[in-house]
Amino acid sequence: MLYCEKCHRFAEGDTCPGCKRSRFLRAPREDDPVLLCVLRTTYADMVEPLLAEEKVPFSRLALGNSALLGGNTFLENYAFYVPCDAYPAALELLTGIFAEDAEVRMALREAGGRKEDRP
Ligand SMILES: [Zn+2]
Repeated sequence: MLYCEKCHRFAEGDTCPGCKRSRFLRAPREDDPVLLCVLRTTYADMVEPLLAEEKVPFSRLALGNSALLGGNTFLENYAFYVPCDAYPAALELLTGIFAEDAEVRMALREAGGRKEDRP
């Protein structure tokens, strides 16, 4: 798994899901910030206390209208970043809690550049 230092995203293949390029990819370091997901306010307010409760260090960044979700004009989007070494646990946590929620699952998938859900 490579890491794009421009987009702060993991790439499963040899191009970044964010910038679609390979030039910023390198091996991840444990404290690299990684984009966990981009969510609307409603979901962001649900996710934040869950991460806090599990003591996952994270940053929440307001994006405003974002092209990250394919140019949808949501009122406000928030990006959640976690350190690289906390990413797998954070992903597992949210995937589990939001197992029935297509929007959150898509957000997690999208940020990680995955086409399919992880088992
Ligand atoms: Zn990138």
